Amino acid sequence: MKPLDEALDPPLKHRMNTPRTPDYLAAYPPALRQQVRTLIEQGRFATALCQRYPQSHDVRSDKALYDYVQALKANHLRSAPPLGKVRFDNTLHVIRNALGTHTAISRVQGSRLQAKREIHIATLFRHAPEEFLRMIVVHELAHLRIREHDKAFYQLCLHMEPGYHQYEFDLRAYLVYRDAGGEALWGV
Ligand SMILES: [Zn+2]
Repeated sequence: MKPLDEALDPPLKHRMNTPRTPDYLAAYPPALRQQVRTLIEQGRFATALCQRYPQSHDVRSDKALYDYVQALKANHLRSAPPLGKVRFDNTLHVIRNALGTHTAISRVQGSRLQAKREIHIATLFRHAPEEFLRMIVVHELAHLRIREHDKAFYQLCLHMEPGYHQYEFDLRAYLVYRDAGGEALWGV
């Protein structure tokens, strides 16, 4: 026997089973979005992106990621709160801005409260160009200082990585390409 909800309301059931793909490029001008769509439709997207980003980085383990994040922090945000755990997280779904997360964890240590900041990076960045990894790490580091995605936040991102906006756009375009069925370009 069919479940009652399916019999009564198939469209709803259908919607629940097939969530709409997020629009990764929603914030960009129509002309740019169209450019990406055209490249994908013509089968030229992968070649174009690989020309710009020929290879993956080799930051594979959580330990290597910690060192990578720590080095960037030491260069640019020495006075920001200390880092707690840093790790790749395969439970992060790549929707909207959930590419990485930053969490403040407060623990009582002796008599003083110390805030440790955890940074989780979506597993898709494990096999990716170094530019993409740097972009997301810079984004999460900037959140150690600034919570909102406001002007000051992006200025801090640009200060740490002048190519920030280009890398974020290219990453989002890559996600559109993957959602359209395109193969992974830098390994699994
Ligand atoms: Zn953010």
